[in-house]
Amino acid sequence: MTRQCLFPFSNLTVNPNGTVSPCCKYNVKQGSPNISEDTLYDKNIHELFFQPAMENIRDQFRRGEEPAGCQLCWDEEDSGITSMRQHRFNISKHHDTAVPKFRNRLNDPKIISLDFKFSSLCNLKCRICGPYCSSNWLKEALDTELYHEHTIKIFSSYADRKFVNNEKNFEVFKEVIPNLHLIEFYGGEPLMQPEHSKIMEILNDHPGIEDVKMDLYYNTNGTIYDELAVETWKKMGVVELNFSIDDISDRFEYQRYPAKWNEVLTNINKYKENCSSNVSIQMYMTINLHNIFYLDEYLKFNSTNLKSRIRFNLLHWPEKMAIKHLPKDIKEIIKYKLESLDENSKSYIESNFFSLGSLIHFMMDNSGNSEYITEFLESTKKHDDYRKQSFKDTFPEYWNLLNGNN
Ligand code: SF4
Ligand code: SF4
Repeated sequence: MTRQCLFPFSNLTVNPNGTVSPCCKYNVKQGSPNISEDTLYDKNIHELFFQPAMENIRDQFRRGEEPAGCQLCWDEEDSGITSMRQHRFNISKHHDTAVPKFRNRLNDPKIISLDFKFSSLCNLKCRICGPYCSSNWLKEALDTELYHEHTIKIFSSYADRKFVNNEKNFEVFKEVIPNLHLIEFYGGEPLMQPEHSKIMEILNDHPGIEDVKMDLYYNTNGTIYDELAVETWKKMGVVELNFSIDDISDRFEYQRYPAKWNEVLTNINKYKENCSSNVSIQMYMTINLHNIFYLDEYLKFNSTNLKSRIRFNLLHWPEKMAIKHLPKDIKEIIKYKLESLDENSKSYIESNFFSLGSLIHFMMDNSGNSEYITEFLESTKKHDDYRKQSFKDTFPEYWNLLNGNN
């Protein structure tokens, strides 16, 4: 049986550099015509959805071919993992309101879902991030020679207001509202982006928006409380609000500089108090070399304070921050700490996506390379000096272990 996918027929992913793709996993370097040639700088979202390169991907699926740009999905499926393609098929089967919207899309493509990464505008420079995703990283990346000046110039343009500068986008957006099943907002930081505010205004004012039952999905860094969004969400379907919280207290502030832990906690509590019951609040934790050693403390803090579901996301890139490169003896300590956790602390993990067991299994994989740990410590020191922070003082036990001191 051929592998069919709903994404090219129903979804538009907008990337910070203004390019689009059928989904966030599609490799835009594949295919002809080249899908990265048309951008938001001179086309609106309707034109981009119906551009020849998108039509070419749709035609490949119609002919029963498996596009080369979809290799990530094919690889995941071949190794037994549920791919994004399969996940969307499952939603379309089980979500009552979504079924009619997704039906017959093969012959009649329509924008049913939008995945917005409007720009790289962000107020933080998280250790796991960089100037391609966060405008706040640009100066430090240049000053510390992380990238060449020419590359930084290209990354700077990712912060441009491409969507909001073309009024036609909002006209098209208003027209597709009745068909929309889902909008996803990613960053930069979505809640500080003017595009997001404008979309909230439009949704809030749209007559009969409650009947559309549109779902929304967010990843936010928690530094902003958005009153207009909270009001708008009351009229929507399910709103999934994910806070990117990777650690607690001073370790959080180190990793998500210059966010303030108490301010973010205050915002999370304010959202919990004021959001309607259709808003589901979760913690979104990107597991990487900075936070894996203290994951047990994070889980305990969550079970007694935040009491929120936690979704794990595994960092694969930059490679020097991937947990598989840890030395075996440190991995054994982490494994022991995690396996000794009380059941209440473990109970908040969103196991539909990644269980604690599979996380340990991934970490224990022995394909790591210790050279990446050296690279991690060197680059950490460089950015510590620049920011006047100290990995050694903030993570003392872990620092000792990483430096071979028991
Ligand atoms: S098969 Fe996978 S990569 Fe290709 S369009 Fe569908 S979801 Fe995207
Ligand atoms: S909040 Fe998100 S976009 Fe901003 S620096 Fe952190 S990881 Fe990057």
